[in-house]
Amino acid sequence: MNIVIFGPPGAGKGTQSNFIVKNYNLIQLSTGDFLRKEIKEETKLGLKIKKIVDSGNLVSDEIVGELIEKTISNRSYKNRLIFDGYPRNISQAENLDKILKRYNQKISLVLRLKVSLETIKKRISGRSTCSTCGKIYNDFYNPPPKDSKCCSSNSLKKRSDDNVDVAIKRFKTYENETQPVLDYYDKYGLLKEINGENQINLIFKEISDIINVIEGWL
Ligand code: AMP
Repeated sequence: MNIVIFGPPGAGKGTQSNFIVKNYNLIQLSTGDFLRKEIKEETKLGLKIKKIVDSGNLVSDEIVGELIEKTISNRSYKNRLIFDGYPRNISQAENLDKILKRYNQKISLVLRLKVSLETIKKRISGRSTCSTCGKIYNDFYNPPPKDSKCCSSNSLKKRSDDNVDVAIKRFKTYENETQPVLDYYDKYGLLKEINGENQINLIFKEISDIINVIEGWL
């Protein structure tokens, strides 16, 4: 099945997508990760979009459209995708339908992780990743160990777009741009809302109950 997962930056989309990937053998297609990779590798595209991504604005529909088609057209990923960060507006939602149809696929489920702006601020401002082992920490909820040789202050990096002002802007951009897209999917009866303020394992339990019903396992 193909799934779309929604939630403002910091809602836990990445975490929940990882659980879904592992438990249901799916592939995560995160447009944000794709774009950050281009920026990190300083490709032609990366240099072009760095300022846009860092300021919290959206990259053009054409650029992200091309990126997602590359993955959707890969036969080994057929009907195994979780879209994280795409679509972000109606034009992208329509484009996704069009591309999926072209490759004989469809969306079976749209998940919305609901989280308040207050929670998002705390999560984003406290988040850091260890550049050595890749572990993700949060100063408020899951602080890095004090005595770790690997995850020391030298290795812990904050994302360059991780600051509260940008978080607020991204939250507002998300709300403005995404609400019409949620309504779009709601019309087709695909939308399920999940309380993203819950504990990580409870959120995943809610999600997997929904997936199991759709897969006919319950
Ligand atoms: P994310 O990690 O999903 O929060 O994405 C980080 C940033 O990448 C966003 O703030 C945008 O600048 C850009 N981005 C990610 N996905 C899209 C998309 N579908 N359309 C336009 N820009 C995107």
